[in-house]
Amino acid sequence: MKELVVISGKGGTGKTSIVASLAALAGSVVTADCDVDAADLHLVLAPTVRRREAFSGGKKARIDAGRCTGCGRCAELCRFDAVVVEAPGGFEGLGLDLSAACQNCHYCRRSCPARVNSEILAMAQAAGGGAGPRLAIDPIACEGCGVCAWFCPAGAIDFEPSVSGEWFVSDTRHGPMVHAALGVAQANSGKLVSVVRQEARRLAAQRGSALVLVDGSPGIGCPVIASITGADLVLIVTEPTLSGRHDLGRVADVARHFGTPAMVCVNKWDLNADLADAIERDARRRGLAVAGRVRYDRGVTGAMLRARAVVEYQTDGCAEDLRRLWANVKAALEGTPADG
Ligand code: SF4
Ligand code: SF4
Repeated sequence: MKELVVISGKGGTGKTSIVASLAALAGSVVTADCDVDAADLHLVLAPTVRRREAFSGGKKARIDAGRCTGCGRCAELCRFDAVVVEAPGGFEGLGLDLSAACQNCHYCRRSCPARVNSEILAMAQAAGGGAGPRLAIDPIACEGCGVCAWFCPAGAIDFEPSVSGEWFVSDTRHGPMVHAALGVAQANSGKLVSVVRQEARRLAAQRGSALVLVDGSPGIGCPVIASITGADLVLIVTEPTLSGRHDLGRVADVARHFGTPAMVCVNKWDLNADLADAIERDARRRGLAVAGRVRYDRGVTGAMLRARAVVEYQTDGCAEDLRRLWANVKAALEGTPADG
């Protein structure tokens, strides 16, 4: 079993369209969508979900109002400004001198350029009484560092695993697919990428599939590193623009750092043939093989609108380029040592 990871230095290069065509051409394949921050391979492969699992990427703090003494230590220590003062009835009800009607939105705490959160807290506490101000943790702003829970003198902060997304095993017309959905404003996408990749490899081994085809993340961050480490081959998709050329260099450095063999594909090459030539020269100078070029073709949009891979939608134009690309990538994969 081999593992091919398709990545791009930047978003918008057409990586996912290429992955969909490779999935259609590959035959015995398990596909994994590891672009978990902006997953969209499902739009083309139309998976039917067979299994879904919750994903916990970390922990979040939560204040138990019954145990909290309102000392404010957590607000002082949280460097992410995630501890907010809640005032039943709004800060206006606490007698603070606010000209507009307070909606209790905490904008002042989050946006104050002087970061005088402790003053805001002190004012709210001083003006308290009756229902009084309450401290709470904004689950979006909380980074799960655990400092508040560690130092709370009353032991009033619970620090528990939080569900930050889901992952799925599905059937598609081109075999099984493992994919995921990260919740809004949730982090730890690298950990989720590892889960998706691991499950895809497990499934491929179980079914005797020849290939795990991974749609990786754009950029050079944690999710990309989690996508490529230990893979047999990385295919870097770029486009003939200055940012495409620049970002190809950065992501090629990441692949080299982790010792993952890489090839390059220039997508929409004919939009700027000179730059496409320059990118391929750069790639060869770095010791990267050029797997192929794919021309700009409106058929890509037509295929997308019909939820089809380009090679399922047409046989000419860029579909010919994609078949050539797959032949080169397949040959390179077969030239790498077998994986167990
Ligand atoms: S440190 Fe603990 S007791 Fe003090 S305000 Fe925060 S949660 Fe309440
Ligand atoms: S866990 Fe860390 S980020 Fe979250 S509220 Fe506590 S101190 Fe702030």
